[in-house]
Amino acid sequence: MDTIDSIDYPVYFEDTLTQLVNFIEQGNYSRFFILTDEHTGQHCLPLLQSRLEHLNNNYDVIEVNAGEESKNIDFCAGIWKMLIDFGADRHSLMINLGGGVIGDMGGFAASTYKRGIDFVQMPTTLLSQVDASVGGKTGIDFDNLKNIIGTFTSPKAVFIEHAFLKTLPERQVLSGYAEMLKHGLIQDAAYWNELKGLGSPLSLPSAQLVYQSVAIKNKVVVSDPFEKGFRKCLNFGHTVGHAVETYSLQNDDNHLTHGEAVALGMICEAWLSHKKAGLSLEELNDISSVLKALYPKYVLEDSCHTVLYALMKTDKKNQNGLINCTLINRIGECSIDHICTEEELCDSLSYYNKL
Ligand code: NAD
Repeated sequence: MDTIDSIDYPVYFEDTLTQLVNFIEQGNYSRFFILTDEHTGQHCLPLLQSRLEHLNNNYDVIEVNAGEESKNIDFCAGIWKMLIDFGADRHSLMINLGGGVIGDMGGFAASTYKRGIDFVQMPTTLLSQVDASVGGKTGIDFDNLKNIIGTFTSPKAVFIEHAFLKTLPERQVLSGYAEMLKHGLIQDAAYWNELKGLGSPLSLPSAQLVYQSVAIKNKVVVSDPFEKGFRKCLNFGHTVGHAVETYSLQNDDNHLTHGEAVALGMICEAWLSHKKAGLSLEELNDISSVLKALYPKYVLEDSCHTVLYALMKTDKKNQNGLINCTLINRIGECSIDHICTEEELCDSLSYYNKL
């Protein structure tokens, strides 16, 4: 698999640990820091450390609690504090070894510490490999709103190591798989057909499929790095999905994963696509049945539609208070900037409920 050139950095897929060691050595960094969470510290760090033995005295590990609950200003301040305590200077490097939480928060902490130090991403979940790995978005949640504080800052490089996925719980595999399915739905019908052929229950998608997803996302991101237009196509499923994800984070002890919420969102937005953007009934049924078979049903009482709609109104894509969705015209082709009314969005939730 070739290296993918993203906006202004490479994404490596082969010999990633060697590539990372070479990168550190050539970068002449004064010191480097590996950010992990409690799970990646256990499952992924030993493999990385086994390749860093000759650099033993030149790095520190910073570990945070796992999960979205940690992606906030308090944990971020903890990272800044550790960097200060460890004496990180402007020629330090941060290696974010973890899922999207570590990548987003570590990227944000690095991009703001001393007005920005270099960082690289080593994503360890399927979701972070196929989605968060390209695009340069960093950030944290704040005031119960996801990713509301953040920057567009590119990492110096991304290293995608498929071996890390072996310890990933099945639910997390499914979470990333939702974004892969989205890539097929918005850009590549053949890829959608190949993915849905993997069936249910899902086995771990191959390194080649991960590569294809990154290539699709990268093509979109490179054409519109700051999300002024076409990049919004990546938001298919996310207007409803983000609202449901936030709702679940606020209300459920065992909250939905990002991918579970996006899968639900894609069903609703496929229904909106059928109503408003020409998606055929046959393709709507195909999408709904594939997603329904893979992802658990999430009960959405009619009474929570108002709350969900209020959350959709906080979506970053909205303009002038109007809710702006990305829809698909057919599988493999999408269009952006569809204004959807409260009634349409609530009807799409009802469609999901009745499936
Ligand atoms: P996560 O980082 O919370 O990881 C999920 C769980 O898997 C955690 O418990 C983690 O400790 C564990 N884990 C990670 N790697 C593991 C491994 N190899 N083996 C065993 N367990 C492992 O969540 P995520 O799903 O990776 O990412 C979700 C976050 O990513 C959200 O905050 C979302 O906003 C963000 N995101 C960012 C972008 C972007 O473009 N920057 C894109 C998509 C999602």
